[in-house]
Amino acid sequence: MVKDIEPFEPDQDSLRAVMHVDMDAFYASIEQLDNPRLKGRPVIVGGLGPRGVVSTASYEARRFGVHSAMPMARARALCRHASFVRPRMARYKEISQEIFELFHRFTPQVEGLSMDEAFLEMTGYLPGKHSRDSELREAGRGLQQAIYANTGLTASVGMAHNKLLAKLGSDYRKPRGRTFVAYDKQHLFLDPLPVGRLWGIGRQTLPRLQQAGILTIGQLRKSKPELLQRLLGQRWRHYQRLSEGIDNRQVKAERADKSISRETTFSRDINEQEPLLETLHVHAAEVARRAVTKSLLGRTVTIKLRDHNFVTISRSRTLPHGINSIDDIYAQAKQLFQDWCDSSGFPAIRLIGVGISNLQAADEQVIEDLL
Ligand SMILES: [Mg+2]
Repeated sequence: MVKDIEPFEPDQDSLRAVMHVDMDAFYASIEQLDNPRLKGRPVIVGGLGPRGVVSTASYEARRFGVHSAMPMARARALCRHASFVRPRMARYKEISQEIFELFHRFTPQVEGLSMDEAFLEMTGYLPGKHSRDSELREAGRGLQQAIYANTGLTASVGMAHNKLLAKLGSDYRKPRGRTFVAYDKQHLFLDPLPVGRLWGIGRQTLPRLQQAGILTIGQLRKSKPELLQRLLGQRWRHYQRLSEGIDNRQVKAERADKSISRETTFSRDINEQEPLLETLHVHAAEVARRAVTKSLLGRTVTIKLRDHNFVTISRSRTLPHGINSIDDIYAQAKQLFQDWCDSSGFPAIRLIGVGISNLQAADEQVIEDLL
């Protein structure tokens, strides 16, 4: 049976691994990077006209109470000596692309929320040699370092077993923050946070909760259902689940056609390498054929395996250049497969697949190579 690789859906919450990355004062930091005279000084990026609004304030300006979405006139009053800069969106977009390319080195499943913020699904993309927790923390550290080494900019990273906790984690200690929320420590982390930090609790619901004395996430978690029902209506259960740290939403990679893949489920367990490598080769050929037809190159090659215990594993590698030939795709897939065999002791296999992602048009690469 041949079908497209489906996203890996873990069944145990505790085993998921998600990162949320958020660049620190993105626009203002780029201005400081490009103009060293602004380093260490308050920089306020935004509309400079009479009705202008602050897009981003550097941390030096935030000390004076300036924050994004504030009217520029107010920002000027709070921090007269700041440098006021008009946004250069083309430049920010350029750096954003660089950063997203780095994200794709860590996982093919990247969900961008804005130019400088993304969720990374790490489930199935960690090396699997040490504990999930230590590998997730290591990935977070590696990501921060990669961003700094490649762009000179800093980011904050949250790591947890779901999106909610990863996102709250990245915001916990900014700038240059790195917060890992362990599965068994989620209440310790969540309980003291202001209740307004939960997704969906906004201007309308927040005052109602506050009037009822519910100021923190912990107080919401411990509130009686009847009270919550009265304050939050039908959605009360949803909010109480969030306050418990429960969030099953998947990381949604940008577009469905962002990858090309093929896989086979066998009717019995296979415990010899040769037939598996033959299957990989057949799939590499099919993936290559489809990529060539669509004039696409993939920079990330992923193999997917499911063992006799129905545990699904993905391994991927991102290359400096896109590929779409059978030989190239097969060579990468074979190497990934053999590395996995070496590290796992090669349990019997039920399913094997290969895919490419991080796709780009073949002619884009030609232009890149010429530059
Ligand atoms: Mg940001």
